[in-house]
Amino acid sequence: MLPLSNIQTIMHPLFEKYQITVKIKRDDLIHPIISGNKWRKLQGNIAYAKEKGIRNLLTFGGSYSNHIHAFSYACMHHGLSSVGIIRGEASYSKNFTLSCAQRCGMTLKFVDRKTYRKRDDLEYLAQLNNEYPDHLLVPEGGSNNLALSGVGNVISELKHQTRFNTLMLPVGSGGTIAGLINADNGQHNILGIAVLKQGEYLQKKVEDLLPENRVGLSNWRIMTEYHYGGYARFSKFDSERIRNFSFEVGIPFEPVYSGKMVLALLDLIEANYFPKGHTVMLLHTGGLQGLAGLIEQDRITASEWLLPPELQAR
Ligand SMILES: *Cc1c(COP(=O)(O)O)cnc(C)c1O
Repeated sequence: MLPLSNIQTIMHPLFEKYQITVKIKRDDLIHPIISGNKWRKLQGNIAYAKEKGIRNLLTFGGSYSNHIHAFSYACMHHGLSSVGIIRGEASYSKNFTLSCAQRCGMTLKFVDRKTYRKRDDLEYLAQLNNEYPDHLLVPEGGSNNLALSGVGNVISELKHQTRFNTLMLPVGSGGTIAGLINADNGQHNILGIAVLKQGEYLQKKVEDLLPENRVGLSNWRIMTEYHYGGYARFSKFDSERIRNFSFEVGIPFEPVYSGKMVLALLDLIEANYFPKGHTVMLLHTGGLQGLAGLIEQDRITASEWLLPPELQAR
């Protein structure tokens, strides 16, 4: 099978100075809308729904969520209907992400923060099951056991594409790294960068997602000290570092996920974390639609960022 995305080698003075090779798997280029890890994670969920004859899918997300964005498109693509339980107010429905989701046929239901916090509570899920019978409930970020196999394809593709020592990626809800750990089965170092504060709980969350015969593996870790201020937060200084790096290497990154992986990479190299001769493989998890939301909220300036073609065209 053809790989869904290509590998590029990234040239940068810092990599040369420390004698590190850095490559990147461009999952951001899989598709203009359903780019990145969310597409991979949804494969198994959609296959399961089809197999069971379930025609409707429901999931959860914030108002600028990459997952909501990808989920709505993936469902439309497969002829399934979708519902998004969205944290926030109905006035958000006009933003970039949610208007796109609605164009893909997603029905939005807005809930307050307190309700949203119950998104994994069995009681609340049972209530939603009543309200939306015949729907497959997919957790926030799409991170469930069904997500592992689709993400695992990253590893089988890489095996045919190139060699590397460490695979590095940003971690949010943990499903992506779990899929990689499961498929890699101890072959490489897998280094996750938690993009949120106090991400220590992610260790257990990932272990819970892994099948039993993968739980003892010690070739992976999630670093929790490289969140650079917490989820979707970033300083002017750090966003400038991400932008500069994007222009230097000619690859777009956003400051919520992939940009934090970039910052951690640069900081870890300077801290001599990687030995000379080491090859790091970055997984570009996509999520570049998030840049549109940040521009819309005046949190970043469009002209200062390297935008992917699908956002330039706007
Ligand atoms: C959701 C997301 C992640 C995190 O993936 P998890 O499986 O939730 O850990 C990383 N990068 C991007 C761009 C994302 O949208």
